[in-house]
Parts: sequence; C-alpha cells; structure tokens
Amino acid sequence: MKKKNKVISLLVSLIVFAIASYFGYLELFEEEPAELSVHFLELGNKFTGDCIFIKAGDKDILIDAGSRASSIPTITGYINKYCGDGKLEFVIVTHAHQDHYAGFATGPNAESIFDLYECEVIIDFALTNQSPTATMYSNYIRERDDEVAKGATHYTARQCIEEGRSTFDLGGGITLRVLDSYYYYNESSEENNYSVCVLISHGDRHFLFTGDLEGDREESGERKLVELNPDLPEVEVYKAGHHGSKSSSHDVLLEKIKPRHVVVCCCAGSSKYTDASENQFPTQEFIDRVAPYTDSVYVTTLSVDYKNNIFKSFNGNIVFYSASSGVTVSCSDNDVKLKDSDWFKENRITPPQWQ
Ligand SMILES: [Zn+2]
Repeated sequence: MKKKNKVISLLVSLIVFAIASYFGYLELFEEEPAELSVHFLELGNKFTGDCIFIKAGDKDILIDAGSRASSIPTITGYINKYCGDGKLEFVIVTHAHQDHYAGFATGPNAESIFDLYECEVIIDFALTNQSPTATMYSNYIRERDDEVAKGATHYTARQCIEEGRSTFDLGGGITLRVLDSYYYYNESSEENNYSVCVLISHGDRHFLFTGDLEGDREESGERKLVELNPDLPEVEVYKAGHHGSKSSSHDVLLEKIKPRHVVVCCCAGSSKYTDASENQFPTQEFIDRVAPYTDSVYVTTLSVDYKNNIFKSFNGNIVFYSASSGVTVSCSDNDVKLKDSDWFKENRITPPQWQ
C-alpha cells in the first residue's frame, strides 16, 4: 500500500511537472508581435522594380511603387492587409526612373498611390535629368503636387538635410533617417545617382535603402555616401543597390555596412537590359562582392522566359520582422537562400565564401 502511494505521488508530480513545463514552454516561445516589419514586394510582372512597405508600430511607410501602373492593385492589395486607416505617414520616392515611381505617376484618368492613400510626408529626389515635359515625369509632378494641395508635406532629400529635419521619430525606438548624398547637390549623367538614401533604425538594428545609387562611374555615389555619413552603421538588412547590378554594392559601401541579410528586388535572369547572363540581375560581380559578408541573400522574382512574359516567384514577397527577441525573415513563396536555388546553380559561379 505504501509503495503504491509512492508510485501515485510520483505520477502526480510527473503530470504536474509536465503541465507546468508545457505552459512554461508556451510562455517562453509565445510569438511576440514584431514592432517593425520590412516588406520587399513582388510586383506581379516581369519587370525589375522596387517597392518596399515598412510597418513601424502603427506607422506606414512606402519606399517606391514599382515599374508599371498595373502593379498598383498588387501593391494596394498587400499594403491594405497592414494599413487599416488608408494613411501612409511617409512616402519616399527615390528617383525619377520608371521602375521606381510608375505607381505614383499615372495619367490624369487613372488612380495613383497618391490618389489611393492619404500621404502625410512625401520625400523625393532633389535633382533629375528628366525633361519637365516627359509624360511620366510630368504625371509624377502633377500627382505629387495634387497630394500636397490636399495637405501632404513635401521635402526633397536635400531640403531634409539642409533644413535639419533628416531624422524622423516613428515612436517605439524606431527612426527614419534621410542620409546625406553627394548627388542631392551635384549633377550626374546617371539618374540613378540622384536616389534618396534612407536608414531605418530599430534601436541598434539598421535597415539600409539606397535606391539605385551607383558605386562606379563619375564620383562614386556610394563612396560619397560613406564619406558624408561617417556614422553609417553595420546593418541587419541592405536592399541591394540598383537591383543587384554590377554598378552598385561596391566594396567601399559593403565594408562599412557589413550586411547580415541582402535583398534584391528584381526579376532574376531577365534579359530586359542585357543578354550577357553574368550581367543580368543579380549580377555575378554583385554576388562576388556580397559573399564575404553574408550568404543570406533573397530575391523577389524569377524570369523564366522574358520574351514570352513568363515569370514566377523567386522568394516572393520578402519580409523581415524585428522584435525585441531578434530578427526573422519569412518569404511568401519559399525561404531558400539565393546560393541554394536552382537558378543560382545553373547560372552563377559559387564564390569561395559560399562553398
Ligand atoms: Zn531601378
């Protein structure tokens, strides 16, 4: 009898311990809400283009809006899952290239992102080589100025710097900072160099967006970026400059920011700009330069057959969640790193660091 009691009490203890551990386990691993999430969007077409949505607490930020007006429903369908009040607190338009600002620059009879959301603060490029009468550019200016007439505040990146309002507090320890750049003040034959450069910081975690800023030709925009922002930190995520082109993401920038993750917004292997495979996005040169820092590289879209308009998700929409426990990445199609993808194995030479 005594022995039986002992067994029962041992069993009860075990059960109590198991239940306690179970609830303890749940508590320990309960998902905490991300305070900041950064979303690199697929755009629903075969074209290269940037569109990044950022949710910072209850604030909504959009950097660029794709390369075709036809992407607008894709963009709004995505954003509206997160943005319940129809308001974008910040809109950043990096430069006047179609693959970055088409969604803002619709004709007078179509609704642009500016028409579909109340945009509080618009920050755009200080300079452009576009003719004031060029269709898309004049559409952009009209749409932007209409939004300003409706109450939006507009600054060029240069004004942000010169007027001492380069850092915006988004609450919750999150800031949006417009970085200084040489080509806010100096003309370039390359429109890409006029890109607005932005750093989003969540405590000591940083996310860098340089649009299509280039590292070679003329005065290197990336070198100047490093010189003009000596406190540029090491970053958690770097949006590959210029879609993983060989003209961006040069050593001078990478050795400063030492990215832990890199995202390429492009339609990989597209022959839109060149038939030379190694120079198609993401280029071999870009991959070779990034490889010493990280193998955590993700790509939005894959070109299957450019001429026949066949494309599919590479990783799909790529989302980074930043919470106090750390940073996680989750992609809508799959989480396979670039180096482990079939496309990479068929089309790229593996750099030594990735072997
Ligand atoms: Zn671009």
